[in-house]
Amino acid sequence: LLTARGLRKSFGDNEVLRGIDLTLHRGEVVVLIGPSGSGKTTVLRALNGLETPDSGTIVVAGGPDIDFAPGSPVKPRERKQKRLALRDRSAMVFQHHNLFPHLSVLENVIEGPWRVQGRPKAEVVAEAQALLARVGLADKADARPHELSGGQQQRVGIVRALALRPDLLLFDEPTSALDPELVGEVLLVIKELADEGWSMVVVTHELSFAREAADRVFFMDAGVVIEEGPPSEIFGAPQHERTQRFLTRIL
Ligand code: ATP
Repeated sequence: LLTARGLRKSFGDNEVLRGIDLTLHRGEVVVLIGPSGSGKTTVLRALNGLETPDSGTIVVAGGPDIDFAPGSPVKPRERKQKRLALRDRSAMVFQHHNLFPHLSVLENVIEGPWRVQGRPKAEVVAEAQALLARVGLADKADARPHELSGGQQQRVGIVRALALRPDLLLFDEPTSALDPELVGEVLLVIKELADEGWSMVVVTHELSFAREAADRVFFMDAGVVIEEGPPSEIFGAPQHERTQRFLTRIL
């Protein structure tokens, strides 16, 4: 479904991604773990077209090869078009839900599919209501975000991403801003989506979630993927000393 090759990105002198390769098969759940600042969020943002890599290639099945080749100086407009071509394919769930405070829950959910994608409003509203019901929020459609708990807000954030009908879902530490007692309900929704066959890349520090839900875990450190494998291998028998050190620290 997705292939990223050799992604590099620097912010000034700070080389944040130093050649990232990542593949995601349809229906697969990939979890990215690693220390703070290792570049996990930047990977997601690059896959979503929010960030333009300095070099590398991203291919989403059915779309064009999006090549951020260095060498040939790419014109800014061309780079932007490449980034935008990625935007439609995936939907991102952020650490902070980023809901519009002045819109109701339902309005937040339909904004993208209706106004941006231009789908018929009645169809989008019906779909949004069904999605809200799925995550137990049917009765909150008319509420404002501030009237909801953090966990409920984040579930709305997930519904808003699903309403875009993306090929893949990207989660950027979706539970790290939540009170501990609210983490479980959000992870449960993500787990259910994974079981349903959604393709997703999840950045999280919740290792028990990674163990249960991931098909493959990528351990990143300092802008490179140190090792990847099924959770049983990464958690059970990490090969690399840096992975071992990280896991001992966090577990
Ligand atoms: P965390 O777990 O703390 O979110 P991370 O692994 O997701 O960390 P990134 O958020 O990808 O790491 O950040 C990697 C590095 O890139 C950090 O040093 C960060 O300060 C830097 N960085 C990220 N975005 C920008 C930006 N827009 N401008 C400058 N530096 C940035």
